[in-house]
Amino acid sequence: MKAAPPCVLTINGGSSSIRFAVYESGEKLRLGGMIGRIGLKGTNLSVTHAPGARPVPLPHAATNHRKAADFLLEWLNSQPGFSDVKAVGHRVVQGMNHSEPERVTRKLLADLRRLTSYDPDHLPLEIELIESISRKHPKLPQVACFDTAFHRGMPMVAKLLPLPRRYFAKGIERYGFHGISYTFLMEELRRLDPAAAQGRVILAHLGNGASMAAVRRGKSLDTSMGFTSTSGLVMSTRSGDLDPGLVYFLSRTEKMTAKKFQQMVNHDSGLLGVSGTSSDVRDLSASEATDARAGEALDLFCYQARKWIGSFAAVLGGLDTLVFSAGIGENSPLIRQRICQGLGFLGVSINDARNAKNAPVISLHSGRVKVRVIRTNEELMIARSVARVLHLS
Ligand code: ADP
Repeated sequence: MKAAPPCVLTINGGSSSIRFAVYESGEKLRLGGMIGRIGLKGTNLSVTHAPGARPVPLPHAATNHRKAADFLLEWLNSQPGFSDVKAVGHRVVQGMNHSEPERVTRKLLADLRRLTSYDPDHLPLEIELIESISRKHPKLPQVACFDTAFHRGMPMVAKLLPLPRRYFAKGIERYGFHGISYTFLMEELRRLDPAAAQGRVILAHLGNGASMAAVRRGKSLDTSMGFTSTSGLVMSTRSGDLDPGLVYFLSRTEKMTAKKFQQMVNHDSGLLGVSGTSSDVRDLSASEATDARAGEALDLFCYQARKWIGSFAAVLGGLDTLVFSAGIGENSPLIRQRICQGLGFLGVSINDARNAKNAPVISLHSGRVKVRVIRTNEELMIARSVARVLHLS
């Protein structure tokens, strides 16, 4: 009898959710889903049996990530074919100096534990998920895929933050994030147009979290996010770059604590803060005709994105390819058109009909810059990385 192809389970833990997927031979989606509302009322597991299938909600109470992971493993064990799962891959948001996906060892776990103060919002949960799985399945190999790894080779001038030098020695520098998505986008670009992937590329990952990367010869030269994922572009609820002088001003005038500031710039700012109504581009696009603040929020988002494209074109010494990706980048012709408006001087010009259809190439044939829409797939990239690290075939 033919042996079943090896499967990889991918785990992407967020603050109140765990997204998971099972890929066959590192490429074909067998099962996907998510446990949502962890730690909140109405925790649920929704399953997509195959791409495009309807989610099946399974109510379950999971008060923390460990319980949610235990439940997920139990549920997966009861699914036909779980014994085909030969390895697990995790998205690890902050990987500091790790520049490649790595097999989880005791040493790596100890290293990650040491780094938790650099990313207290993600790392403890990610470590908990890895430990939960190794407790239940000690023989199952696990691989950590770092969202920072893609940017590790950035030049010093992009990494340095202009603070007293002692902080650099403490690891305070630009790390950049969304690296799993960027790695996937570059692999796609290489497949679609190998010459373009060697050229001057700006990748725009525009989802609830949004960032850009300037890439030349396949290497990240700079990125908009920095030490944390709060910086750079305006995002759904995150502010992006701000004047650092605000911290002292707000502490004097409103007695705002660092913790409150952190809450404000991560959860109450960006599109939500400026519009005062919604963090969602769909809502704001629908209401901007009658709500000036919704329009201002979208204008600010697009204006800042255009500024980053301009500055990254300067970093790259010109531009050959601009890639839009993630929820907004893949689905909003309006936002893409508004970002690209006025970039004609760089050679960016959009074909409205193709843009309206979210076509794979949305630039004019005559435009010097090829503007592409590429669907990102972080889960698939994790599965591929696991297969490569562990030499699964
Ligand atoms: P996350 O960073 O949470 O993974 P996503 O990549 O799912 O986020 O992106 C979420 C954003 O994508 C939201 O602002 C949403 O408005 C936007 N979005 C999703 N679908 C569409 C659409 N059809 N038109 C416009 N915006 C969309």
